[in-house]
Amino acid sequence: MRYVSTRGQAPAVGFVDAVLGGLAPDGGLYVPEAWPQISPAEIAGFADMPYAEVAARVIGAFADHEISHADLLEMCQEAYSTFTHSAVAPLTQLQPGLFIAELFHGPSLAFKDVAMQILARLYDHLLSAQGRRQTILCATSGDTGGAAVEAFRGRKSVRVVALFPEGRISEVQRRFMTTATESNIACVAVKGSFDDCQAIVKNAFQDQILRQAVDLSGVNSINFARIAAQAVYYFTTAASLGAPGRKVSFCVPSGNFGDAFAGYAAHKMGLPVAKILVATNSNDVLAKAFEDGRYARGKLTPTMSPAMDIQSASNFERLYFECVGREATETARAFEAFAKSGSIDLPPAAFARMRELFRGVAVSEADTTRTMVSTLNQTGELIDPHTAVAVAALRRAELDGPVVVMSTAHPAKFPEDVAKATGVTPELPRGIADLAKRPERFDRLPAEAETIKAYVHAFAEG
Ligand SMILES: *Cc1c(COP(=O)(O)O)cnc(C)c1O
Repeated sequence: MRYVSTRGQAPAVGFVDAVLGGLAPDGGLYVPEAWPQISPAEIAGFADMPYAEVAARVIGAFADHEISHADLLEMCQEAYSTFTHSAVAPLTQLQPGLFIAELFHGPSLAFKDVAMQILARLYDHLLSAQGRRQTILCATSGDTGGAAVEAFRGRKSVRVVALFPEGRISEVQRRFMTTATESNIACVAVKGSFDDCQAIVKNAFQDQILRQAVDLSGVNSINFARIAAQAVYYFTTAASLGAPGRKVSFCVPSGNFGDAFAGYAAHKMGLPVAKILVATNSNDVLAKAFEDGRYARGKLTPTMSPAMDIQSASNFERLYFECVGREATETARAFEAFAKSGSIDLPPAAFARMRELFRGVAVSEADTTRTMVSTLNQTGELIDPHTAVAVAALRRAELDGPVVVMSTAHPAKFPEDVAKATGVTPELPRGIADLAKRPERFDRLPAEAETIKAYVHAFAEG
C-alpha cells in the first residue's frame, strides 16, 4: 500500500514512512493510493470480536505487509488494555435509535487516547527496528498533549516536548501532562496563546538544523495512523447495531476533522454509512463548509468545548482531495490560496460529493448548556460539553437509521462547566482520583521560537 500527498509534489511512500513522516514534504497530507476493502462478512463478524482484534485487522489493512499481523495484534492488545472498559468504545443508549459511543475510557479520558496509545507503540516498534530515537514536539490546546504524554511516557525511542498556553487549559488537562514522572517527557507552559504554540512548532519543523539534530517528529491529527486507528470504532459500533445489514449514521463533534474523516475512511473501506453529521461549536468553519459550500476561517471564539476551538481544520484537505477526484494540482492551489486569503469556494461538483455523506450543524454555548441539562434529566447520563455539542446538533438534523454520537471526552475532564450547567460535579474515575494531589513538573518559557527551540535541543541532548 502506497501513500500519496494531497499536493502531488512528494514521492509516494509506504505506511511506515507516512506514519513516521507525519506531514508530506510538499506540505500536503498523506492518503492511501486506494482504499483497502473489508468485506460485508468480515464486518458482520466484528460484532462480537475483541476490540484489539478488529483494530489489528483495520489498521493492518493500511499497514499491509509492512508490519506483521502478529506484531500489530500484540501492539493493539497492549494499547487497548490501558482502557478501563473491556469493550474499549462501548455504546450507551440515550433514546430509541440514539446511542453514544464512549470513546473516553483511555488514560487521559479523551478520545485522543484511542489513536495515541497505538501510535506510541507503533513509533517504538518502528524506531527501535531502525535504531533511531526521535523527539516529538507537540502544541496542545488541551487534550492532545495529555494523550501524547500518557502514551509515550517511559518509551525508549521517543522523547516528548509538550507546549501548552499557560493559563488557557483546564487544570485536569494540565495535570495529565505535568504529573508524568518519566524523564523522556518535558512540559512547557508558554506565555502566549495556543496559536503562538502552534506557530513555534511550525517554525521548529522548518528549521532543518534542529530537525536533523533531534530527529523531530509530530503526532498531531494529520498523522495518517491516527485516521486508521480512529476508523476502527466506526466499524465496531456499526457492527454492534447491525451493520452491514443496516446503515448507521454518525454525529461527530469536530475541530480538526480527523475523527469525522476517519468515518469517511471506514465508509470508503466498505462500511455502509447513511450520513455523518459534523457538529461544531460557534467556531463553525466546518458546519458552514458542508451547508453553504464555502470553507472560510473566521475569528476564533473561546468556548466550553476548547478542543473544537479551531478555525482551520487540517484534515479537511484530505476530503477536498477526494471530492475533486484526487486532483493534487487543484488541491494544492486551493489550500495555498486558503493559507493566504482564508477562504475557499468549494467547486460545485466537489460540494455535491461531500453532501452525499456529510451534513454540518453549529451549536451555540446556550444550546450546549441546555443539552447537558436535558440529557441528564431524560437519561441520567452526564455528558461533557464536546459530546453535548454533538447531541444538540442532532436535535436539529434529520438522519436516517440508528445514530451513533461520538462521545469524545469524559465529563470529569471539564468538571467546572459540567457542574455549572447541571449542578452535578462529575467524579474522576478510580485510579486517577488523586490526580489533583500528584506533584507537577513543568517549565515556563516566553512565546519565542528561538528560546523554545534551544530548550528542545538541550532536552534532546540531555
Ligand atoms: C480533539 C477533540 C475533538 C475534535 O476532534 P477532531 O478530530 O480534531 O475533529 C473533539 N472532542 C474532544 C474532547 C477532543 O479532544
